[in-house]
Amino acid sequence: MKNMKKHYQLFINGQYVDSSNGEVFETHNPATGEVIATVAKATKKDVDKAVEAARAAFESGKWPRMTAAKRARLLNRIAEMMRERFEELVRVEVLNSGKTVAAAKGQIMQAIEDFEFYAAACLTLQGDVNQVPNGFFNYTLKEPVGVCGQIIPWNYPLMMAAWKVAPALAAGCTVVLKPASYTPITAYMLAEICHEAGVPAGVLNVITGSGSEIGPYMTEHPGIDKVAFTGETETGKDIMKRASETLKRVTLELGGKSPNIVFDDCDLEGAVNGSLYGIFYNTGQSCEARSRLFVHENIYDEFMEKFLEKASRIRVGNPFDEGVHMGAVISKSHQQTIDHYVKLAVEEGGKILYGGKIPEGGEYEKGYWYLPTVIGDVTNDMRVAQEEIFGPVVVVMKFSDEQDVIRQANDSIFGLGSAIWTNDHGKAHRVAAQIKAGIVMVNSPISAFPGTPFGGYKQSGFGRELALETLNLYTETKSVVSYI
Ligand code: NAD
Repeated sequence: MKNMKKHYQLFINGQYVDSSNGEVFETHNPATGEVIATVAKATKKDVDKAVEAARAAFESGKWPRMTAAKRARLLNRIAEMMRERFEELVRVEVLNSGKTVAAAKGQIMQAIEDFEFYAAACLTLQGDVNQVPNGFFNYTLKEPVGVCGQIIPWNYPLMMAAWKVAPALAAGCTVVLKPASYTPITAYMLAEICHEAGVPAGVLNVITGSGSEIGPYMTEHPGIDKVAFTGETETGKDIMKRASETLKRVTLELGGKSPNIVFDDCDLEGAVNGSLYGIFYNTGQSCEARSRLFVHENIYDEFMEKFLEKASRIRVGNPFDEGVHMGAVISKSHQQTIDHYVKLAVEEGGKILYGGKIPEGGEYEKGYWYLPTVIGDVTNDMRVAQEEIFGPVVVVMKFSDEQDVIRQANDSIFGLGSAIWTNDHGKAHRVAAQIKAGIVMVNSPISAFPGTPFGGYKQSGFGRELALETLNLYTETKSVVSYI
């Protein structure tokens, strides 16, 4: 793959600018470790400039008061331009994140459809007329919240940007978006597309820099009305504390340790394939990765034989190669974290059934890799069953009783995703009702489509993305009461 070696500047008020002190950082290709671009490293002063631009664009009234029809046209135009640049977006996403081409294609297609979904959704934004005592009249207006600070992670770079930016723009908000430092490039490409599509200067600003420096600064910034964050649960807690000083609106999409429950009356082939996909898709770097696998004792041996045989056929390697199923992990330090958890699993009494190490030799000498890893002899109270690893590591547990597996599935601080495999539909929906998670997949490996609410219970956060109701999280309701 040809190296791009470009420089990306901050995008503030419709213009590309370097950071106020001229500092830059490097961004890498995780599959080779090579530097692919330099990126401007924003200072607090640059955050101020981006917030000022977003505030001015909001207060001018042009964007928040633009007719829904016109805004919908613009959002559709953005989607159309993303379609035109689809192959380029895919290539850059693979290069900067180490994910496979197939994964990047699916995620970028969804990012495009998110813009199309919110183009249609913004036409539905409307207030109510309410029944009040005679002599009074009451109606409500849905008004955009204002300036939104949006902070996103590295696992789905462009898709996360779309989940945030599309509903905010649809609601009439203005945005300061901060992508993760590992994967900033497609967010800048999105800014370029939005600009060329006709989004006015200041409405979407993109800045990059140290998460631990400009992230908290954005969260505390008095010029920002709402923070929408996706990332780790610990970062989410910090954000919530800091945002409370100015009582910002906050939505948090955080970590997970999702249970995947395989009952003995399932379609075995479908459950094996879906469970493999559920953990190894995106190299396990998915918030809703089904990383706790519960298998009924009656089918445990047969299921595990097939599961392990197929896991051993997962090809790890150059994410641009056709036939490769799993790409690289995002960084050296993340690779070390994954390896640390695998060693911990063994110390805790777990048994590595497949993988459990960094592959060596050949193409693995460069870049950051980890083998698909399956760990047995685990109990739900072990740290490897309770803490998010965010890599291609699944822990397997045997169960015999429906109520007991529900109890174990719910015995977690997280509550993001979950999956149930059974051909008994009564059971599926009985169990779904008792799982404490924002998403329950029934005989389905996939959970997120434009229109399906996505978000967590418990310490997986609050607020829903991807859905019609997300628009409400970018609006305030104004109640006008008139005496007539
Ligand atoms: P992270 O919390 O380290 O970083 C996320 C973003 O926050 C980055 O842009 C980072 O620069 C910034 N940041 C770091 N410290 C900050 C601070 N103190 N204040 C404000 N911003 C700060 O998370 P990550 O490692 O990039 O992403 C992985 C995590 O994201 C996992 O826990 C995963 O489950 C979660 N995630 C959740 C969802 C969801 O929808 N629930 C989706 C994708 C990823």
